[in-house]
Amino acid sequence: MAVYVGYEGAKNCTDGPQPGSRGMMQWFLENYRHLGGTNLGIYNCRTVRGGSTTSLHGEGRAVDLGINPHGAAYGTDLAERLRNSSKEIGIQCIIWNRKIWSGAHPNSGWRNYGGRNDHVDHLHVELSWAAAKKNSSEVITLLNTHLATEPDAPQPPETPSPTAPYPTQRRGDTGALVEEIQTRLNRYGFAAGPEDGVFGAGTEAAVKRFQDAVGTGVDGIVGSKTWAALLTREAAGHTLRKGSSGEEVQHLQRGLRAAVEHGLAVDGQFDVATEDAVKKYQQSRGLSDDGIVGPKTWEALQGGR
Ligand SMILES: [Zn+2]
Repeated sequence: MAVYVGYEGAKNCTDGPQPGSRGMMQWFLENYRHLGGTNLGIYNCRTVRGGSTTSLHGEGRAVDLGINPHGAAYGTDLAERLRNSSKEIGIQCIIWNRKIWSGAHPNSGWRNYGGRNDHVDHLHVELSWAAAKKNSSEVITLLNTHLATEPDAPQPPETPSPTAPYPTQRRGDTGALVEEIQTRLNRYGFAAGPEDGVFGAGTEAAVKRFQDAVGTGVDGIVGSKTWAALLTREAAGHTLRKGSSGEEVQHLQRGLRAAVEHGLAVDGQFDVATEDAVKKYQQSRGLSDDGIVGPKTWEALQGGR
């Protein structure tokens, strides 16, 4: 167990992730996925956020190990064990949970990190060039040799909540999480446009309409509350009833108009007229006519009327 000394800054973007970086990600997912570990990426030709120097991600030498729930104790445990064996593995820098350790200041331990991204949702781990160029299996062997593979038991999050297993997404963000948002918005009837993983104006507008409908603050940013609403909506069967309002109700009203009540206004207000139309629809489909749009009524409406 020893601490790495030295730091090789990034110069120019390469054309993809280095093999050693792939090995580290593979090892992480194999050992931490069951605790909530995810792959938040390796290669990305960009500058350091808020700066002008090339990010180590541009050389494919930095891996972002996603930690859920954010700030989880297993992330802290992993960060410390990686640091303690950073020399053997070839790790030159780690950023985690507002702390940074760097081989440029090897004996200073964890220092406060004030970068724009607070890194509570992932460990940013940088490899030396020597480690990055090793093949994947070599790096996996090094990790298995120098780190005990059994992570500490996961600690319960400090504030128990079903919310926010995912990092905040906002306009300008790209990737799989944005695609997830777009897919769900489209599925729930909030037209977000193409599911291309690019958080543009159309996605932002759809997020705002969704937020308006579910009663979270309307800011167009998918933070913990909006994520929770997006993720639980399906399980809850997105029930609508008298008094509900918003785009989802419009979506419902369009379905009702086509099916039973051609004169129904599409105004997004679940009023008495809408309730009557729901009951009429439910009767026509042999469903219990309670006037509440739960999973069964939704399913019937969506599955061709
Ligand atoms: Zn990173």
